[in-house]
Amino acid sequence: MTRRRLLGGAALGAIGLSVGGTLLGTATSSASTNGAPGGAPGTETYDAVVVGGGLSGLAAAKQIAESGRSVLVLEARERAGGRVHNISTPKLGVTLDAGAEFIGPTQNHIATLAREYGIATLPTYNEGDSVYWNSGQRSTMPSALGLPIDPATPEAALALAQVELQAFLNFPVGEPWKHPDAAYLDSVTWEQWLESRTMSPTARMLLGLASSAALSVEAHELSALYFFNYVAAAGDEANPGSLIRLLSTSGGAQEQLFVGGAALIPLAMAAELGDRIVYNAAVRSIGWADGVATVCSDVGIVKARKVIVAMSPAISGDIEYLQGLSTERQGLHAGYRMGAISKFAAVYSTPFWRAKGLSGQVIGNGEPIDVCFENYAEGNHVLMGFISGDAMRRLDHAPEEQIVAECTQNFVDYFGPEARDHLDYGIFKWDLEPWSQGGPVAVSRPGTLTRYGTALRAPVGPIHWAGTETSDYWTGYMDGAVRSGQRAAAEVLRSLK
Ligand SMILES: Cc1cc2nc3c(=O)[nH]c(=O)nc-3n(C[C@H](O)[C@H](O)[C@H](O)COP(=O)(O)OP(=O)(O)OC[C@H]3O[C@@H](n4cnc5c(N)ncnc54)[C@H](O)[C@@H]3O)c2cc1C
Repeated sequence: MTRRRLLGGAALGAIGLSVGGTLLGTATSSASTNGAPGGAPGTETYDAVVVGGGLSGLAAAKQIAESGRSVLVLEARERAGGRVHNISTPKLGVTLDAGAEFIGPTQNHIATLAREYGIATLPTYNEGDSVYWNSGQRSTMPSALGLPIDPATPEAALALAQVELQAFLNFPVGEPWKHPDAAYLDSVTWEQWLESRTMSPTARMLLGLASSAALSVEAHELSALYFFNYVAAAGDEANPGSLIRLLSTSGGAQEQLFVGGAALIPLAMAAELGDRIVYNAAVRSIGWADGVATVCSDVGIVKARKVIVAMSPAISGDIEYLQGLSTERQGLHAGYRMGAISKFAAVYSTPFWRAKGLSGQVIGNGEPIDVCFENYAEGNHVLMGFISGDAMRRLDHAPEEQIVAECTQNFVDYFGPEARDHLDYGIFKWDLEPWSQGGPVAVSRPGTLTRYGTALRAPVGPIHWAGTETSDYWTGYMDGAVRSGQRAAAEVLRSLK
């Protein structure tokens, strides 16, 4: 179905907000409009309510609306997009991607949406050398290489090859609990798995970077099974997942970025959904009886036949489920936690690093910034560094001047003294956002996936689950979020028939 059809389709009814425990909305159920069961216009029962207006919730709502069913999105924030969000620098007003930014090969679901809304991509700058920082020692390597030239590289490459092999060997993507070695892999952390291989500290550091750079957690914070699944998920139905694809710029997940910022995509989706989204509508509880769910939000109560909870399992447990949840679903909520992340982006008058033959990319164990990229920002010259895991937690409540000083020093160490003279900067602490509680993704502790993993997508009463963490491919990424929303919408539409 086309975008025009959604925009031009029969209005689903004005949303009459009424605060204070009264019914929210006057859904003109398209089911009833079509003569199908589901209540007459004005019965105030939606076909579906989507909780969360991030990419997964928006993708679900779009598909449901396009099918002609009535849908309402309840979003806790005053904006759509969740972990995809544009910010402006305070002095110059330069637009930056505070959250998701990059897109790469096999991420066709998000790419299709971007094309639909006319949002263009640009290649991430990948010319010249990257900086490799190992415990205060700076060296450079061709950006195209991926791994630094270091005596530990062959060992690290060997361990990487084992991870790659797992992903190739029919890994049960999205259902890692079915892996023949699942019991072992989910009994150890990624760090313990690395320690069980004979490796030098530097090789271990390089492998550990795979989790801190991609997931913003320390290697001891996640199950090895989770990590192997994450790698196997970095592909699609035709292309097995790959750690190289996950971590690379050219040919990998960091290959392109969106002109104007990735947030243009959820903003366009939200504009299209129009009054089907209600903002500042944090959902506090969901109950259900006799085929109707009752969703209580900060702006009122909504009735629906189906509900899609579209967010990370690390935060979906904050909602009260009045009829209770299975032990598995509760275990899942307790076993997932968000990574810790912020970006520090600095605006410069010239791309001075390019003049030195540097791509603007960094990898290593620098602190607080361990990974950098050059960013495109409306023609401005921007260096962006990730602060993740323990480094982020240390700085979460530090004064901003301290964070700026530490990050600027990193840039000086990596790129030279010119880095001190930034014109403006942007920073956004995802850990302190109550409706995200971190990022980029939630990871699971050992014992979670094998015990409770089957609850990730299993409906509970009328509730279906979306969110990038529930995706088979590209879990943790925008593409996974869109996939998960489309999957949950298809489940709901099937069950409404
Ligand atoms: C710093 C950072 C960098 C990233 N970089 C990339 C990248 O380069 N490429 C990439 O593909 N991905 C990246 N990601 C990951 C990507 O942003 C996520 O995978 C994706 O946006 C998740 O979408 P979602 O809909 O699953 O969840 P979310 O975006 O978290 O959406 C959940 C929504 O639910 C709302 N909500 C929460 N609780 C309630 C409640 N009780 N009631 C109502 N609403 C509620 C939230 O406000 C939010 O809008 C990055 C993320 C971060 C934070």
